[in-house]
Amino acid sequence: MHEMAITQSVVDAVCEHAEGRRVHAVTVEVGALCAVVPDAMRFCFEVAAETTVAAGAELILLVIPGTAACRTCGAEFRLPDPILLCPCGSADVEIRSGRELRIRSMEVSEACAQPAGAATTPPR
Ligand SMILES: [Zn+2]
Repeated sequence: MHEMAITQSVVDAVCEHAEGRRVHAVTVEVGALCAVVPDAMRFCFEVAAETTVAAGAELILLVIPGTAACRTCGAEFRLPDPILLCPCGSADVEIRSGRELRIRSMEVSEACAQPAGAATTPPR
């Protein structure tokens, strides 16, 4: 399962940064083009975190929409799926966002790792 491998790496990173502290919540940014199913990822997180300091932690997923720029006509457009095709018909496009996978913040028992910023990505 695709999500299991991704989630395992998230749990590993979280546990490393927690340095033994109890983890309550983890916010992860996932690009829409990663083709991750949020429900599957939450389930995998529960399983992967079960025996760690992140056991029972809430996984908050922020899905980053895919966007791309066309090298032929210069347009920037949304990518609803991983098919790289500009509305003008050109396939010469560059992905601008949608492939992210990063831990944005985590909540541990003593102190917050970092404050959460705006929950949405401004439109380009
Ligand atoms: Zn184009």
